[in-house]
Amino acid sequence: MSHLMNTYGRQPVAFSHGQGSWLYDTAGKAYLDALAGIAVNTLGHNHPRLVRAIAEQAAQVIHTSNLYRVPRQEALSDRLAAFSGMDEVFFCNSGCEANEAAIKLARLYGHDRGVSNPTIVVMEHSFHGRTMATLSATGNAKVQKGFEPLVSGFLRVPFDDLAALEAAVAGRDDIVAILLEPVQGEGGIHVAHADYLKALRGLCDAREWLLMFDEVQCGIGRTGKWFGHQNAGVRPDVMSLAKGLGSGVPIGACLAAGRATGVFKPGNHGSTFGGNPLACAAALETLAVLEDDQLLDNALAMGAAIRAGIAAGLEGVAGIVEIRGAGLMIGIELDRPCGALVAQALEAGLLINVTADKVVRLLPPLTFSQADVSALVDGLVPLIKGFLAAQ
Ligand SMILES: *Cc1c(COP(=O)(O)O)cnc(C)c1O
Repeated sequence: MSHLMNTYGRQPVAFSHGQGSWLYDTAGKAYLDALAGIAVNTLGHNHPRLVRAIAEQAAQVIHTSNLYRVPRQEALSDRLAAFSGMDEVFFCNSGCEANEAAIKLARLYGHDRGVSNPTIVVMEHSFHGRTMATLSATGNAKVQKGFEPLVSGFLRVPFDDLAALEAAVAGRDDIVAILLEPVQGEGGIHVAHADYLKALRGLCDAREWLLMFDEVQCGIGRTGKWFGHQNAGVRPDVMSLAKGLGSGVPIGACLAAGRATGVFKPGNHGSTFGGNPLACAAALETLAVLEDDQLLDNALAMGAAIRAGIAAGLEGVAGIVEIRGAGLMIGIELDRPCGALVAQALEAGLLINVTADKVVRLLPPLTFSQADVSALVDGLVPLIKGFLAAQ
């Protein structure tokens, strides 16, 4: 019997090693990785530059704590600021921690302005993490059930619906921020309209609220831009990052700009591990490879190729609701629950995910090649057809 806490329903497979977009199980079977550890393995597996950067840093120094300067952390904050136009970065170790920092920052910002009960607008079908504050911000009853009392101070509205948001905030003087994913991931790959994000920017400027984007899943090149919101040409005041930032080495970040800067003072927030030399070396190398190998363009091109291939293969098939996404963040919505497809794909040597019950989710590494695209489309199309025909 396992001594692991029963927090995950796991597939009965373990991987011994990987190469590029492929993983190999302990029996030697190969799997095409169209999930990348849930949008984490940005550079695929065993990328020579990443492996070298991690090994070299490990041989120098792994961790020193934030009681001292960490030059790699300073360098990484410079890179992230340059790519995003943001001003300040706080480093942590995961997505929920990055969002915790954002939530704390927004509350402190509110208190600094005399708002005694600061409230953050959040979205239906959002996902922000599993800590108490982030699960309370999350728009999914399953994530919250059994963990009441929830953290208060969140006002929930429908996603991508400006009129509903305006109605919900009318007459309120306790709002300090709006928190949303520019592309909802766990919620089923829903891309916010550019006009909506622009309108939120205008609203936040007019009311001096913080516009906070959770880019934990859609950031770091996945949508073909460094950050998902750049597709809409809108800059947030606060942005959270994690998943793809370290290509598998845990690291998260909370970025602030403009009126959101200077809010935290020493003693307000912290993290023992946050931004340690090893994690920052992995993140710096990830960003360098993304740039040198033009992998943002690759994400855009390969994402379009996957969607086109799947759309062509599934044309006229009953049961397909929509194929959507941005870059290498792709959802195929079926008209019925399709969780069973995950095990069928695994059997066929394909790693995929199903989220929001009915949405096949693809999050391949940004190094995905044209050959990988063909293998994915050739493998997935017959699986989905067979699944729908058998129901
Ligand atoms: C995965 C995810 C999180 C939580 O990240 P963890 O590293 O699991 O804490 C938060 N927000 C979004 C959008 C995510 O996709």
